[in-house]
Parts: sequence; structure tokens; C-alpha cells
Amino acid sequence: IKISKSYKLASRDFHPDDTVIDIKGVKIGGDNLVIMGGPCAVETPEQIDEIARLVKAAGGQVLRGGAFKPRTGPYSFQGVGVEGLAMMAEAGRRHGLLTITEVMTPEYVDVCAEYADILQVGTRNMQNFDLLRKLGTIQTPVLLKRGFSATYDEFLNAAEYMLAGGNPNVMLCERGIRTFEQYTRNTLDLAAIPVLQQLSHLPVISDPSHGTGRRELVEPMSKASVAAGANGLIIEMHTDPDNSMTGDGVQSLFPDQFAGLLKELEQIANIV
Ligand code: PEP
Ligand code: MN
Repeated sequence: IKISKSYKLASRDFHPDDTVIDIKGVKIGGDNLVIMGGPCAVETPEQIDEIARLVKAAGGQVLRGGAFKPRTGPYSFQGVGVEGLAMMAEAGRRHGLLTITEVMTPEYVDVCAEYADILQVGTRNMQNFDLLRKLGTIQTPVLLKRGFSATYDEFLNAAEYMLAGGNPNVMLCERGIRTFEQYTRNTLDLAAIPVLQQLSHLPVISDPSHGTGRRELVEPMSKASVAAGANGLIIEMHTDPDNSMTGDGVQSLFPDQFAGLLKELEQIANIV
């Protein structure tokens, strides 16, 4: 493969062993499979608490949920903001889950890091270099999503910004790329999982929810991701997907589907 390898700290040549990020005893990377589950957006304290309970009961480790939502249109629901961070932190604490939430601007990094265990950089911000530089100045783990039209080289260079700044706790997330196909919302690039693991030592997480945009494809693509060697999955789940506040209800699993999927994954992987 023609790869420029302009990145260095993200490269496996530089760091042969897998990076394992230990967050309060949950080890992400290496041979473990970490499960992150939850709604697209934090909506109310009751909603996030109930979903946290279900994620924990199913065997997940991390509660996901956006308080700041990067919406394609300016008139769509933009998230509940800082209040949502507090709601989510409380739900995570009550149910013994780590939390992950998206941060969109450098100004909000500190407050998001105060409430969440992992910060998510969304696909639309993969090359928001000011944001990446700011995230390089802290030690909070970051899940960096691949830009929907980014090459592996561009993706790893984005991770390099944070590593170069001094934050070694970076995980990569394949969340689907834009192709000519319209049936699915994005095309989950399964090959990205082994390719990124060959090129880099950083953990690779797969997002079959945004990677397909269709609930019925989340289970098969979760299993395919694990078979391809993913170190973790980030999956949207909602107690009432049809009435969720973002359009991502169509790709959100119902709680029983989420629990059933984790039961099956336990047969093929070592869930941490
Ligand atoms: C999300 O996780 O809800 C999200 C907005 O993801 P992405 O940045 O991959 O679209
Ligand atoms: Mn979403």
C-alpha cells in the first residue's frame, strides 16, 4: 500500500506494542473487547439513567451520549449542552459505567473532561486542528472518529496531533465513510480495522451504528468488526428510538437487541 507515513508517534514502527488505555481499571486495547452503548443524544435525566442501567445490565462498560450534537442543519436539535454532561456523569456514576461524550470546540474541552471519562471527536471534526491541539494538552482519553472522507494517512495524522501534544491516550474509531451507496448511511470500512492495527499501535473501535445507519445491520456488522479484530464497539441504543431527539433512532438498537448482541459477542470475544 502507498502510505506516506508522515505520522510518527502513531506508527507501529515507533511503538511496536499495542497501546492499552487503562481507565479506572477498564483496559481498552490489546486482547479485550470494550462495549460502549447509549443514545445518540442525552435527553433527560430519566432517559440517560434508564439507558445506563440497561447498558450495565447487558454487560457494557461505557455509557455513550452526546450533550453537544454536530447536526448537519442549524435548525435541528443541537443537544442539551452542559446540563447533559452532568446528567450523564450522574447516570454513569450510579450504574458503575465510564462515560464518553463528544466535544466540538477547544473552549469546551475542559468542561467536558471534568464530567466525562472519554472525549469523542466526531467525524466532522477529525481535522479540527485547534481542537486536536487542545486535546493534546490534557491526559483524558480521546476517541477520534475517522472523517467520513479521510484516508488512513489523514486519520493517523489527526491522531498524531494529540500524541505530539503529549496525550498518549488516543483510540481510533472507524464509523463509516461516504461512498456512492445510498441504501446505507455510510459504508463501514471493515478493512480499516486490520489496516489501522497494522499501521498503528492505537486501539481501534468500530461504530456499526453510524457505519450503516440501519438498526438491522448493527448486529452483523458488530460481529464482523469483532472478527476483523476491533478492540471495541460503540453502539447506539435507545429505550424509545422512534421518539429520540436526533434522527439516529433508525440506527439505534432496542434494549433487548443490545443485550442479545452482547450475549452473542461474549461467545466470541473477551469483553472487559
Ligand atoms: C455520534 O456519535 O452520535 C456522532 C455524531 O458520530 P459521528 O461523528 O461519527 O457522525
Ligand atoms: Mn448519533
